[in-house]
Formats: sequence, C-alpha cells, structure tokens
Amino acid sequence: MSDLPVIVIGAGPQGLAAAAHLLERGFEPIVLERGASAGTAVSEWGHVRLFSAWDELVDSPSRRLLQAAGHAIPASGYPKGEAWVRDYLAPLAAALGDRVRFGFEVTSVTRLGRDKVVDGGRAEQPFAVRVVDYEGGEQRLLAQAVLDASGTWSQAGPAGADGTPALGERAAADHIEYRIPADASALAGTHVAVVGAGHSAVHAVLRLAELAERHPGTRVTWLVRRPSVEGALGGGEADALPQRASLGVRARRAIERGSVELMTGFRVEEIRLASDGIVLVAEDGRELGPVARLFALTGFRPDLSILSEVRVAIDPALDSVAGLAAEIDPNIHSCGTVAATGAAELAQPEPGLYIIGAKSYGRAPTFLALTGYEQVRSVVAELAGDHEAAARNELVLPETGVCGGSGDFGGRSCCAAPATIQLAAAAV
Ligand SMILES: Cc1cc2nc3c(=O)[nH]c(=O)nc-3n(C[C@H](O)[C@H](O)[C@H](O)COP(=O)(O)OP(=O)(O)OC[C@H]3O[C@@H](n4cnc5c(N)ncnc54)[C@H](O)[C@@H]3O)c2cc1C
Repeated sequence: MSDLPVIVIGAGPQGLAAAAHLLERGFEPIVLERGASAGTAVSEWGHVRLFSAWDELVDSPSRRLLQAAGHAIPASGYPKGEAWVRDYLAPLAAALGDRVRFGFEVTSVTRLGRDKVVDGGRAEQPFAVRVVDYEGGEQRLLAQAVLDASGTWSQAGPAGADGTPALGERAAADHIEYRIPADASALAGTHVAVVGAGHSAVHAVLRLAELAERHPGTRVTWLVRRPSVEGALGGGEADALPQRASLGVRARRAIERGSVELMTGFRVEEIRLASDGIVLVAEDGRELGPVARLFALTGFRPDLSILSEVRVAIDPALDSVAGLAAEIDPNIHSCGTVAATGAAELAQPEPGLYIIGAKSYGRAPTFLALTGYEQVRSVVAELAGDHEAAARNELVLPETGVCGGSGDFGGRSCCAAPATIQLAAAAV
C-alpha cells in the first residue's frame, strides 16, 4: 500500500497544511476539494476579520513550501477571511500543483471490498474513496491513508433550542439567515434578531449594532439561550488573543449604549409567520417580534455521512472525534482553553483514517487553526512511523480567559436568572 497516495478531504487551511506535511515526510498527497478553489469555506465568510494574527494562521511546512515558490506571506496584522485565502491558501494550493483537485466531492470512504462489518483482511485493504467530479462523473480512488479535513461549515445549527429546527423554522426560511451578514444595509429601520452566543453571533451583533447606530429606528435584539451572556463576551484582558477579546468588549459596549437589546435564557421553541415578519416564541412563553430577519448563529455540525462505512469513534454529545471529547467538551471544561491534541487522541478504530481540523472538534466551538496545524503535524509523523515526533506537543495554545462553556446552562459558574435587559446608559 505504500505506493498509494494519502488522500486528504478538503482544501481548507487544515487539508492544505496536511498536504504540505505529507510532502515533507515523503508521501504523495492528493487533496480532494468539492469547491472550485482553495479555502472554499473560508471564502464564504471572507468578509469577516479573523481574531488570529497572521503568524497564528500559517503552518510551518506550508510556509517553507511557499518560500520555496517565492511567495511572501504577510508578516503582521489580522486578515479577513478573503485575505487568508488570497495571500496564503490559494498560493499554497498553487504550490501543491495538481495534487489539489478542485470540483471533486467525496461521497464515501470505505475499505476496498469490505463493508463496515467485515473483519477479515480489513487492515490490509487500501481505502477506496468515492468522488463525484465536477462533470457529475463517479470515480474511485485508492489510498493508503485518509485524512478527513472537510470541516463543519456546510452544516449550520438551527435556531431551535433543542438542536432541531424550531416549530415553523423551515416555513419561515425567507426570514432567517445562518451566516454572518456581509451587508446588512437593506435591514435599516427594521427589527432584527440574532440567536447564538459564539464568535459568529458576536460578529453579527456588532455589524447590526453599527447599522442601528447609523440608522435610528433599527432595533437589534440578541437572544442567548444561556442565563448569562458573559461567556459570549469573552475573557477580556485574560484572553491571550487581543482581537478576540476586543470583539467581546465592543459587544458589551453596544449593549451598554442601548444599540442592542439582550434577552438571556431565550430558548427558541417556535417561529410564527406574521404579516410583517416572524414572531419568535421561547420555551418559557416569552415572545419577540415581529422581526424582519433572524440571524441564527448557533454553531456548526460535522457531516459524518461520508464515513458511514468505516469504523469511527465519535463522541455522542459533541459529534467530535471520541478521543478529543474529554479535552474539548464545553460541559466539563470550566474554561474555553483546550490543550493540544495529536495522533493519539485522533486515532480511529480504522487504522490509517484520521478526522482532523475543525471537523475533529464536531460541535465544540473552541477550534483554532493553530490547534489543527499541531494535529496535522502529529498525525503525519505517526503515519511516517515517527512515533516520538507524533507524541511530542509543539504547541502552546492561547488562553481564552472565558469561563463557562457553551454547554453550561445553569447550576455552575457564570449563571444568573433568565432576564430581559436593556442597558441604556452610554458607556465608553
Ligand atoms: C467566521 C469564522 C471566523 C473564524 N475565525 C478564526 C480565527 O480568527 N482564528 C482561528 O484560528 N480560527 C478561526 N475560525 C475557525 C476556522 O474555521 C478554522 O480555523 C479553519 O477554517 C478550519 O479549517 P478546516 O480546514 O478544518 O475546515 P474548512 O475551512 O471548513 O475547510 C474544509 C474544506 O473541505 C471542503 N469539503 C467539505 N466537504 C467536502 C467533501 N465531501 N468533499 C470534498 N471537499 C469537501 C470544503 O469545501 C472546505 O474547503 C473561524 C471560523 C469562522 C466560521
């Protein structure tokens, strides 16, 4: 099998980093990307500025590959997603050449000629990766190992608090968006709401708050399921990533200025269509509306369907790689900071198969590009038989300073009674 390539699913930051590591270790990688270009998912949120600085967004072997190709990566500053793609991911894919194949969607990963149940000769069989190409044709590619770096971007969570769409959510689809708005100007003068408490929700709240400040008459309501918004506002000075800290500080100020109305403990149960928008109904009977547009930014989930015929250990709560769950579970972590994870934690019952990058975290919200690059380094070392390098931890992760994970709905730190708060006093 050592003559076969290693197949990487997805040409996002982690898939491309994996290809660069594989090349340095003497493997022949093939990266299969369903989009038309590198960083397809990142491009879709290209208007959002990252809270990580350039040096936290570039992987070392990828940097070496780009340097060899004569490409200079920006040295400082905080890029938007579009610049991460333009100045790093796209040139990296170009440097990898025809090892990166665009318009190739992976539809399944199996062991050649073995369904999931069959033990006999399993580990000796290569992986068979089924793809649909840009012309709709089906192909099967064989691989000695598979690294699934397909991310979670394509599956956004619903507004409904129980994890399924709220009653009426599908029928109200014309009034709901599941992405951070790029241009919200058409919503000036209307009532808009955001549900969610992660960084995407904070981004959206800030964009809409700016709109409300420019256009009086615009009303912005931020709905969080938790009894407190503190976790969403970040760790302030305790956060080692200053841009991430500043997002929370700006959101807090927007609330204090009265540009944003905050409703805590609001768990959306039903969405009713009204003549001039939608009405959101919470589990406890509170109603909000009519609202012209709801931004549901409740996180992402991995699509595990392509792995249904291989043996994978997935955490039942997080949909993450099972071996990572104890490290990243927001229910048991009082603080959002997570330790580095590598080949040992990412190992699957199917030898040679690894889920890496954002997908490895499943629904856990704390994934950082740096975490992924360390995963990739360790996994590729393990594939190369360098167990010492695979076991090493070369990463120091930034502190978040955020206490109370997203699974924390009550009973522990950061809790308060559900409330509707309008903080009107101007505070700079
Ligand atoms: C708004 C936003 C802001 C963020 N800001 C930061 C930040 O400041 N710092 C930070 O470290 N992280 C940040 N992140 C996290 C960020 O998502 C990751 O760091 C990074 O994008 C994850 O990379 P990935 O390669 O794992 O996944 P992705 O970037 O999602 O890439 C996955 C790729 O796989 C492709 N794909 C999916 N399914 C298939 C298939 N079946 N077949 C073939 N190809 C497929 C997709 O098209 C995509 O190109 C942010 C995320 C978001 C959404």
